[in-house]
Amino acid sequence: MKIENNTVARIHYSVTEQGGIVEDSRVGEPVAILVGHRNIIPGVESALLGREVGERFSVTVEPGDGYGPRHANAIQRMPKKHFRKYGTLKAGDLVMLDTERGPRPVTVHKVGMSVVDIDINHPMAGKTLNFDIEVVEVRAGSAEEIAHGHVHGAGGHAH
Ligand code: ZN
Repeated sequence: MKIENNTVARIHYSVTEQGGIVEDSRVGEPVAILVGHRNIIPGVESALLGREVGERFSVTVEPGDGYGPRHANAIQRMPKKHFRKYGTLKAGDLVMLDTERGPRPVTVHKVGMSVVDIDINHPMAGKTLNFDIEVVEVRAGSAEEIAHGHVHGAGGHAH
């Protein structure tokens, strides 16, 4: 079965940027993606189409098909209490910011006494990323998954 829109693909992937590994799914279970519902960046989603189980391939994703450009002046000052669960923060730390569109990763820019300056750019914004992807499983998405726009069960949502 080939990956197409409304199939569920389980993949292992690693992401490198300028030679350094940024992320590697092999520290855990394969990631499950309902394809065609913008659950992953466009550059990876389009590279998955037509692939089959066992295929392993690399794809280079420019910012325009990835996490977008990096914006200057994207520093926001926020009360430190929002980040209490992280303990002592320092510049460069990654934290999750709760937004109306769900949690998103941001970078600590500067830490003050009672406020934290946060760089709200996605940590991978503006970067050309190289993905190494292995297709572990492909199945048809269920009607419920397609209606919800995400995967249920292994590697997906539990509700
Ligand atoms: Zn659901």
